[in-house]
Amino acid sequence: MSAEQITKAVSLPAVDVSIERPGVYIVATPIGNLGDFSARAAATLAAVDIIFCEDTRHSRRLLDHFGINTPVSALHDHNEAHMSEQSLTRMAAAGQACALISDAGTPLISDPGYAFVRAAVAAGLPVRTVPGACALTAALSIAGLSTARFSFEGFLPAQTAAREARLSALASDPRTLVFYEALHRILASLTAMVEAFGAAREAVVARELTKRFETLYRGSLADIVARVEADADASRGEFVVMVAGNVAEQGADDAELERLLRITLAETDRRAAVRIVTALSGRPRNQVYQASLRVSAAGET
Ligand code: SAM
Repeated sequence: MSAEQITKAVSLPAVDVSIERPGVYIVATPIGNLGDFSARAAATLAAVDIIFCEDTRHSRRLLDHFGINTPVSALHDHNEAHMSEQSLTRMAAAGQACALISDAGTPLISDPGYAFVRAAVAAGLPVRTVPGACALTAALSIAGLSTARFSFEGFLPAQTAAREARLSALASDPRTLVFYEALHRILASLTAMVEAFGAAREAVVARELTKRFETLYRGSLADIVARVEADADASRGEFVVMVAGNVAEQGADDAELERLLRITLAETDRRAAVRIVTALSGRPRNQVYQASLRVSAAGET
């Protein structure tokens, strides 16, 4: 397989954005590939009065690249709680609009912004989204693991004991598990996952998504650990680790779903049975519908 390098100069299309003043815009930026910056994100950031960001020098480079001159102000984990209320009150009193971006991807997803959005909501300000890149959804969309139900676990604790405790609490979870991981801990985390979930559990590690060295490692946890250990490059960069849910528990979940459907289908039609069991089980409606077809095909109702 080969990849052809194609360079096409395209400028971002002009888009109309209507900016509410006062108003707060939560704007996604690329996770590595500047081509993923959206026209609406650029137009919104150019139109607001101030942009809050984690690292002003880092974000200034992105903004300069797209010719956006809006002033920036630092809002990071250390000052977020204290700054948010003050900044938003001042901005609202002046009838201004602001945006929040993070160093990469979608703010609040393992990034600052939670206190900021809470403060904006408490102040009664409109909070709007300008969605875009996010390593979580980008990785899941190419992993080939079930996305019907997944649990985003963010970063694991750095301390060994806390990390092991967190992983062992997740060992029987039937949902796909998604973790963020930084380069210096990838091997330690994968090794701890082998211990907690078993060497054979299916997993996918997505490295350097959207960048030149984007790589996907697919296989059992043990296979992936061996490949990362053997290849020095494999432990460089940024990672999303996705682990298939516990299959035995999924089976138990499905058996329970089918049991509920057998009872309800015996009393009512499929439409009502699916509606009731969807509400009872919390499973997606389509999964419940498919299970209802299996139950009927097995001649159980
Ligand atoms: N807010 C960001 C998002 O929307 O994905 C995530 C920020 S978090 C501080 C950084 C972590 O996200 C990295 O350590 C890595 O786990 C993951 N990540 C970010 N960019 C990535 C990329 N291009 N490829 C793989 N993982 C990435």
